Amino acid sequence: MAFVVVKFGGTSVGDIERIKNAAAKVAAEVQKGHKIAVVVSAMAGVTDQLINHCKAISPMHDPREYDAVVASGEQVTAGLMALALQQRGINARSWLGWQLPLRTDSTHGRARIIDVNAAALRKRIDDGEIGVMAGFQGVSDDGSITTLGRGGSDTSAVALAAALKADRCDIYTDVDGVYTTDPRIVTKARKLARITYEEMLELAANGAKVLQTRSVELAWRYHVPMQVLSTFANAVGSELPGTLVTDGDETMEQGSVTGVAYTRDEAKISLVKVADKPGVAAAVFGPLAKMGISVDMIVQTSSDDGQATDITFTVSKNDLDRAVQALESERSRIGFTKVITDRNVSKISLVGLGMRSQAGVAATMFQTLADKKINIQVIDTSEISLSVLIAEEYTELALRALHTAYGLDAQ
Ligand code: ASP
Ligand code: MG
Repeated sequence: MAFVVVKFGGTSVGDIERIKNAAAKVAAEVQKGHKIAVVVSAMAGVTDQLINHCKAISPMHDPREYDAVVASGEQVTAGLMALALQQRGINARSWLGWQLPLRTDSTHGRARIIDVNAAALRKRIDDGEIGVMAGFQGVSDDGSITTLGRGGSDTSAVALAAALKADRCDIYTDVDGVYTTDPRIVTKARKLARITYEEMLELAANGAKVLQTRSVELAWRYHVPMQVLSTFANAVGSELPGTLVTDGDETMEQGSVTGVAYTRDEAKISLVKVADKPGVAAAVFGPLAKMGISVDMIVQTSSDDGQATDITFTVSKNDLDRAVQALESERSRIGFTKVITDRNVSKISLVGLGMRSQAGVAATMFQTLADKKINIQVIDTSEISLSVLIAEEYTELALRALHTAYGLDAQ
């Protein structure tokens, strides 16, 4: 029998019927003899609404009070889920972040977990009670309520699973697993039965939205297997119908590429005719770093005359205006002639552990895009990924072509 932390996302607890449906899944697992702890998100849309309430009163809201407000969504669903379980004759109670406690630092709005004290919850579980923890929230050392950042209840669930030394963390959501690419764009996308933490992290970092990146990092660090599965299918987690995110092992099939991710969230900035001398890259990226703007892809073209080069890089679309402002204000120090920006780009990334050992992965990507007459603007690599920046209008075409080229299409 397994010990499983089961997490329900916002759509899975989006209304009363859905909360009852989620409780039925928990009941089915209990029936099979599994030990269960539950973590819930707020009802879909509620967190957005609470954030809007804060903004409507005070655009420069006090972060402590912001957390007091937005954490309330999860308090409601934790209580409702406990009631729904009780309604099925299951002994259950809710746990808020401070009641465990789940301790965090005091960075309101995106607090980091320090530790999870699950001893009291554990004891109750051993006595046959089901604990329902409110996701997304914790408590700082001065007793303030904190929240973990948007999508943070995945992280809550993994942290609880690690603290309880659970066998698995099942993430019930509105999709039935992790796919080789976005199935809404590529109809031949396949659901993966398993994927490694490392690959999942790389996919998430490159745009796959299914799990919060932090939750995967945490799962990897504590070796908590995670399963992504649909709350709207009949199967329950112990039947393993979803995608398991786990450590890699030899039995896993190894093609070169496991998945293809994309993001339209980045924008491109080019600095034209930057002096070709030491210290220039520092002068460009220093001010951006100081403003908390992170830069993703970078290329610098070499100059043929040794005088001036062009530097091109990408930032999040949300940061574009601030980034340009920062660069303009440093213009005399950096010494460029022009800033060119482009929002109409998308980044396509191949991800796979097999890329470490297999040659020719990049060549295939470049040839595939060339055959479709898609121009590559920037290239970036990591040990297990290869990304290109292309014009946004070719996103779908590129995804389909690459999916086929790497043999990922469903039969
Ligand atoms: N309710 C929070 C949010 O919408 C946390 C979560 O659902 O994971 O961001
Ligand atoms: Mg990189």
